Amino acid sequence: MAARYQAPRGTFDVLPEAARGRARIEAAAAAIFARAGYEPLATPVFEDTELFERGVGKSTDIVRKEMFTFEDKGGRSLTLRPEGTAPICRAYVEHGMHKLAQPVKLSYVGPFFRHERPQAGRYRQFHQLGAECIGTDSPLADAEVIMLLSDLLGELGVPGVELRLGSLGSLEARRAYLEQLKAHLHAHEGELSKDVRERIDINPLRAFDSDDKGTQGVMASAPTIVDSLEGEDAEHFAAVRELLDAAGIAYTVDPTLVRGLDYYTRTIFSFVCDQLGAQSEVGGGGRYDGLVEQLGGPATPAIGWAAGIERILLALDEEDEPAGRDAFVAIADEGQRQRAMALAVELRHAGLSAEIDLAGRALKGQLKHANRIGARRVLILEADGSAQLRDMDSGEQRAADPGNLVDEMTGGES
Ligand code: AMP
Repeated sequence: MAARYQAPRGTFDVLPEAARGRARIEAAAAAIFARAGYEPLATPVFEDTELFERGVGKSTDIVRKEMFTFEDKGGRSLTLRPEGTAPICRAYVEHGMHKLAQPVKLSYVGPFFRHERPQAGRYRQFHQLGAECIGTDSPLADAEVIMLLSDLLGELGVPGVELRLGSLGSLEARRAYLEQLKAHLHAHEGELSKDVRERIDINPLRAFDSDDKGTQGVMASAPTIVDSLEGEDAEHFAAVRELLDAAGIAYTVDPTLVRGLDYYTRTIFSFVCDQLGAQSEVGGGGRYDGLVEQLGGPATPAIGWAAGIERILLALDEEDEPAGRDAFVAIADEGQRQRAMALAVELRHAGLSAEIDLAGRALKGQLKHANRIGARRVLILEADGSAQLRDMDSGEQRAADPGNLVDEMTGGES
């Protein structure tokens, strides 16, 4: 029978057996964040639409066509957050965090929403974890945040990862460069795809991402910003590279690297994985030295990244694992019900996972059920107060000391 109601297109249920892999990723990230001083900050799942229009940029694909926007009952336009950096900066300004010791180092994890065409690794509700270092323009911060993501992917064992590094220069350098790039694109308009041609003046950087052959030809001879970096921008980029070299982090400089959000300045980076298909990026980010000011705060340089939990899971390609149970308390006689329940609670308090039958099964059915939920050991409470302990792997069974059942279960092998 087909289910009458299904999760909306591009969304999915995280089933219990899939939850463990996710929890492992989140726990690894939380530990790495905590050790480096990136404290958790949770922002709401929806924000004023204007925050993303101003923060992410009106010319980006995200704002132009991917936002889930709705009106609340007061006629106010709200949007399900498509990304985490603008909300974090909003919170930084709102809570006066510029008055704290700088930089303020923050991390987050949670669901994000983009109305994209669903495919493997691309969903309409997905989960990101991320780190932001706000309030310093030191290249040390660039290197530190990049190392956090590198550490996380390494610790999780994500295979085939490559770090690509680029720079967009300061806001002014970027502006000057964009004029050069637009001139180049206008000079070759006839060879560009329709989509790129229509957006020359709106978002010329995206031309580097095009999969159109003609456009790619034009881009091969386009000026790149990495090659035209000057002064402090060039020094900053060189310093970041030196720090990564010193830390033994391998990377390739990619002069054509661009990102889909408007706020980036100077360093940008992307971790790609060769195990993934078209959606090959597991995580990425960059500097956004103008964003806090753009959102009404003081001029505040910052850098951060986000990684997709689903992409990491796809890259790891692990089998989902059922959780299993340490113990199941079965009863050979109805009269043992209360004792079984009390014992299961005691075992739980002692730190074991323990279950009892909640469906009125006969003993045979209870043992079958214990097997199905992956219980490693089963205690069988007999009518006369005695107890049997069965090891479900070996099938061995022996009498257990009825006065010491918790110790029997917590004290090692049966
Ligand atoms: P972005 O916020 O666009 O810089 O993306 C950062 C990371 O989030 C990417 O590297 C992906 O791992 C993940 N991501 C972005 N969009 C999606 C999506 N629609 N579905 C799944 N993961 C996504």
